[in-house]
Parts: sequence; C-alpha cells; structure tokens
Amino acid sequence: MGSKKVGLIYTNEYQQYNFGEQHPLRPLRIKLTYSLMEKIGLLNNESLAIIEPRMCTREELEMVHSTDYIEAVKKLSDDPKNKEILPYKYGLGPGDNPIFKGMYEASSLVCGASLVAADIVWKENDFRFTFNPAGGLHHAMKDKASGFCIFNDIAVAIKHLQKLDKNIRIAYLDIDCHHGDGVQWLFYDDPNVLTISLHQSGKFLFPGTGDTKERGDSEGEGFAINFPLLPGTSNKMYLKLFRRCVPRILEAYNPDILLTQLGVDTHFNDPLTQLGLSISIYRDLGQTMETCATDYCNNRWLAFGGGGYSMTVVPRAWTIFLSKMLHIDLENKLPESWIREVKQNVPYEEVPYLLWDRNDKIEVQLLSHPEIAKKMIDYNKQLIELCEEKYIPALSKI
Ligand SMILES: [Zn+2]
Repeated sequence: MGSKKVGLIYTNEYQQYNFGEQHPLRPLRIKLTYSLMEKIGLLNNESLAIIEPRMCTREELEMVHSTDYIEAVKKLSDDPKNKEILPYKYGLGPGDNPIFKGMYEASSLVCGASLVAADIVWKENDFRFTFNPAGGLHHAMKDKASGFCIFNDIAVAIKHLQKLDKNIRIAYLDIDCHHGDGVQWLFYDDPNVLTISLHQSGKFLFPGTGDTKERGDSEGEGFAINFPLLPGTSNKMYLKLFRRCVPRILEAYNPDILLTQLGVDTHFNDPLTQLGLSISIYRDLGQTMETCATDYCNNRWLAFGGGGYSMTVVPRAWTIFLSKMLHIDLENKLPESWIREVKQNVPYEEVPYLLWDRNDKIEVQLLSHPEIAKKMIDYNKQLIELCEEKYIPALSKI
C-alpha cells in the first residue's frame, strides 16, 4: 500500500491560462504552489511522480461542450478581435471571462491535464491518487464560459471515465467557496455521478445556486447534495458538518472513485468571498478525504485545484493537500527561499511565515455576539439533520 504512487500533473505552460494583470485568477498562484511543494521537499519524495499533461482534442471537448461554443472559443482565441462572433452569447468578454489570445489552447491544456490525471488513477495499478492543480474549472457550462472557467475540465474527465467504464460510479466533492454549478447541472440526471458541494450560500455569492432543494432530476434524483453555508462560517462549524456528513455520504454511495475540487477561496483572507476558514482546516479536510478515498472510494482519488485568490494561501493549502496524499506530516514552517520568492512576487500581500494559519479573530467575534453565534450553529445543525434524515437514507436505498 505504502509503495503506491501519487501523480502530480504539472507544466510551466499552465501559466498561459491568463485573463490579464487585472484579473483575480492569476496563474502565479500555480507557479508559487509548485515552488513551495518543491522547496518543502515533496517533489523528491519517492512516491511522487510528476507527469506532463497533454492538450485535449476537440472530440474530447465535445463530450461536454457544444460544437458551436467550442468553435466560438477557437475563433476568438485565434483572433480576439473577430467580429463574426458575439462573445457575450458565450459568456465571454470584459468582466469575469475576458477574451485572450491562445485561450483555446490554454483551456484545452487544463482539460488534457485532467484527462491524464483520470487515465493514470483509473488505469495504472501502481497509482492511487492524482492531482491537477490547474484544473477544477467547475463553473463552465455546455455552451458558455462562466466564473473564470472556459472549458469544464472536471466534466470532461468524468465523461472520459464513463467511456473507460460505462458503469463507473463517481463521487464528486466540491469544497470551493462557490457552488459547483457546472458539474452539478451537467450530471444532474445521472445517478452514477453523485455531486456534493459545500459553498457559501448562493443568497450571498456567485453563482447564486446550490440550494438544499437542488437534489437532482429524474433518474438522478437524490444524487445532488448541497450544503449552502452562511458568511462567517468558522473552522469549527465547517469541520463539524464535514466530518459528520461527508464520510457517511461516501460510505452510503460507495463509489468506484472520489473526485474532489479543492478550491480554497473559503479562506478568511480571500478577497472574493466571506467564509471564515483558515489554512489549518485544510489539514483536517485533506486527511478526511484521504481516509474516505481509501475506505469508501476504492482507493482512488482524483483531485483538481479550483478557486483561491490569495497568492499566499493557495500554495500553502495545496501543498498541505499533496502532503496528505503522500502521508507526510509537514511541520508548521515555511522554507526561507519560498518566503523570499513571495516577497518578490506578491508585495501586496502580507508575508506568511507559517505553513498554516488560524483565524482566532472569528472565534472571538462569535463569542462576543452570542445571539449571532447561536443562529449560525442552529443553521449548521439543520444542515446536518437534513443530511442524516434525507440525503444519506436516500443513498442507502440503492
Ligand atoms: Zn470559487
């Protein structure tokens, strides 16, 4: 068991997925992530294999996206000034998803990386886990871009796995602060794809969906599960819900493989969101995912990156997730050389000196506002009850 390998899908070419200097999704975060993984010593671990991705083909994109949309992305990618295409029809243009030259190739590479990750974890017996940190583009829809996501690499990987084994049962767990809407809607009527999303409630955040009432459609009814969380949710509340619900959902569904979207925009410092988590929670989440993958998901775990807009949080969080895949307990410190690199590249963020941080402020705030704290705890309890009384029994029937 211990000799089984972990695959990290990586290339410097990920830097090409770049909406420009003013955009919050900066490819620098992937570069700093790889650099921290290297400097902290994970990349020369004997169980780790670094694997080059490939571009995915047009046929592979067509498993998920409409020909019309793929064609539009390709034309605008070749010539961003192309006047034949109405970009807004496809969710492209100034705003969330600005057009950039080469965006077709950059997006196809991210999808290809997720396909390589899927192939390895599914077909090669000596691999248990794979991680594509550039992936996780969960908002992209069949015929439009959305929320910084052009092509939905997760959905493409799921379709690919279904081609490799038509009866495969997949559990998709999305911890990004935003609802995993693209993946949910694309497999909404499919009982062989269970989607679980924990996110800041759509009442307060893009994309506005992810209500508890969204449970799947026709054959897929009962196979979409949503946990919409309140702004300010703390580590303590989140962990209680996660530990009480996620392992039991996975145990009840007993899938052939676990897929996770590891967005870390749930961090209290994230500029786009309002949850109150700190990096220390990702150690617990990573550990729980590892145990669940081993015990309930046939020992297979395919992980994607996702959101996260603090350039100092993303590298630390994803380094922690990779360490959990490798069964390594990292110490709470950072290599000097990486701190220097952060100082040079991210002068606008506070320099971190520890691998994980805590958010003590939120616990103090909750203590000084007991009535708000009580409301939040009660709300969290309701979600747990809903899961225990409805979601899990529905899965246990199959
Ligand atoms: Zn997000």
